[in-house]
Amino acid sequence: MNYETVIGLEIHAELATKTKIFCGCTTSFGGGENTQCCPVCLGHPGTLPVLNKKVVEYAVKAGLATNCSINGFSKLDRKNYFYPDLPKAYQISQFDRPVCEEGYLEIKGGFGSKRIGITRIHIEEDAGKLLHETEDGSTLVDYNRGGVPLIEIVSEPDMRSAEEARLYAEKIKTILEYTGVSDCRMQEGSLRFDVNLSVRPKGSEKLGTRTEIKNLNSFRALVNAIENESERQIKVLESGGEVVQETRKWDDITSKNTSLRSKEEAHDYRYFPEPDLVPVVLDKEYIERIRKDLPELPDIRSKRYVEKWGLPEYDAGVITASQSMAVFFEDCVNAYDGDPKTVSNWVMGELMRLLNEKGAGAEHISFPAVYLADLLKLVDDGTVSGSAAKKVFAEMFETGEQPKILVERLGLSQISDEEALTRIISQVMEKNPQSVEDYRRGIKKAMGFLVGQTMKETKGKANPALVNKILKKLL
Ligand SMILES: [Zn+2]
Repeated sequence: MNYETVIGLEIHAELATKTKIFCGCTTSFGGGENTQCCPVCLGHPGTLPVLNKKVVEYAVKAGLATNCSINGFSKLDRKNYFYPDLPKAYQISQFDRPVCEEGYLEIKGGFGSKRIGITRIHIEEDAGKLLHETEDGSTLVDYNRGGVPLIEIVSEPDMRSAEEARLYAEKIKTILEYTGVSDCRMQEGSLRFDVNLSVRPKGSEKLGTRTEIKNLNSFRALVNAIENESERQIKVLESGGEVVQETRKWDDITSKNTSLRSKEEAHDYRYFPEPDLVPVVLDKEYIERIRKDLPELPDIRSKRYVEKWGLPEYDAGVITASQSMAVFFEDCVNAYDGDPKTVSNWVMGELMRLLNEKGAGAEHISFPAVYLADLLKLVDDGTVSGSAAKKVFAEMFETGEQPKILVERLGLSQISDEEALTRIISQVMEKNPQSVEDYRRGIKKAMGFLVGQTMKETKGKANPALVNKILKKLL
């Protein structure tokens, strides 16, 4: 039987505010344990929370950028549960009136283009962090993260494969970065995914029983966990069993997911309106002001590249996936007079390859965009060959130096002097009489050998177009 996988995602993103959601403590990452807390975020009796205005602004921004409608009236609620990382024994979140509802995103892939619905975006506070790996086997808790503001973005169950889920999650990340709502540093846990997944026979309308996999913090973990859980559920059904509704835990090291708790053990959160905070009331003017301040979003930017510069849709999609990369690309196109596709080839080829090797993003490029434009001009005017330009580029990537200086230092300027080249080519022909004879007898590929010998003789510095021209003349 053929099965279909049905996936919904809940994405938690830490907001880029300077201070926490209900107090003035810093949100910066990496401070000493329990050095960034106060009586409010530690939940001491008698303290009162005050909502950080910037949190609401960021949530509205995220909602507008994902086509949500913004609720003029929303409120905060207590979600009650007991766990040592939660000092108040409740989390302040939003239950039935979130800030944003009913949005969507477009994703594009091998399957074409598809719309993924967004059910809601709500604001809440993060919990502390438990540290289990202590020498004496005890558990410690660090409350620095407690009270850091989050938005939770809940999707509709619209995705049907790990690829679709990855594209959707990547799109969310791109949008949060463009709008400055979150820094999305995944290695610091700024972006985390929960997966809701069920399988059903293809063609069936009825949803299967779903499981939830919590706290995935990389795209690779997301893809692996989805594929693994989908296979597991199909195996259960094929063997005549039933999928149990439960929460599961993904382990990156063993590449397996295991049961964490079943539905029977699920929490009853006893939500009720947070009595220490007033509801959030937003007027139209406020919402429109934020809408006007939104930057050019990736889809619109990508469309502009296709329409204005004739870039293939694929290139435009890859480049605009990172805002820093898009800015770099545009600066380079504007500084270079040639075809934007040439810039795109270099950006998607050499530049992204070297950045990937370093595991770095476009914000870490060590040279200004205009240097790449300068290098492309040197190729266009014949000063350097295409292959020499790659060497210059690699050096420029490392040192951040100007291409002109590097061409000289590396001795890579191309020989475009016709007289000098004619002399070298004549010598090559003298040394290889057989190839010359072959060519004259009609074996055209002998030409390639002679070009190769000339390039070897000039250590790759001869202008290939000129070599071909002179060779043909002499032959
Ligand atoms: Zn605090």
